[in-house]
Amino acid sequence: MDNSITNQPLAFSMFGPPGCGKGTQAALIQERLGYQHASTGDMFREAIARKDANALEAQDIMQRGDLVPDKLIRDMLFQFLKGIMEKEPDLPGFILDGFPRTLSQAELLLGLLQELNLRFPGVIYLDVPEELVVERLKKRGAGGEQRADDNEEVILERMRIYKEKTYPLRDYFDRHELLIKVDGVGTIDEIYDRLEPLIHSWR
Ligand code: AMP
Repeated sequence: MDNSITNQPLAFSMFGPPGCGKGTQAALIQERLGYQHASTGDMFREAIARKDANALEAQDIMQRGDLVPDKLIRDMLFQFLKGIMEKEPDLPGFILDGFPRTLSQAELLLGLLQELNLRFPGVIYLDVPEELVVERLKKRGAGGEQRADDNEEVILERMRIYKEKTYPLRDYFDRHELLIKVDGVGTIDEIYDRLEPLIHSWR
């Protein structure tokens, strides 16, 4: 096989309803397999923390559970990916968490991958029933993580936005034969054990 292709870093996306566990799994994949976790939600929260003007302007959108403008997310993600690729030329790749979230972002993603010369094996859909994720999110809001958008009203709004704007991506990627469905019910380790062989198969 051509070496230039095997060494090319890859980027795959994980998606599923809010609270499906994709952030937890992405962090584990980073720790154990060396892929860089690229969470657009984290990028956005960090931009707010450092008082970035564009992020501050969109802060209230996030606080009510809605999606912030594509351009803001796309630019943040591009800078993030580019910065890491320059610093870490041997990186195996990225786990995109929270992007794409709409059909228009799916198209932005394809452009971004091309520009950065990243290989795209597809998106992993973590399949978890809605009742279970709402329970998990409420616990997260009541417990340690303290995200401003984990209270009940905002959770329901995030779920509504997910169903309306993000869920249709499932069919979109499925039609393009880029959807990999993984059962997201189980312990953290059980789910990780379903993901790892998949990711290895892409190298
Ligand atoms: P997350 O941590 O992925 O749940 O993201 C938290 C919030 O950040 C979301 O509810 C949105 O307001 C914003 N956000 C994160 N990623 C995106 C995205 N790809 N497009 C639009 N808004 C996003």
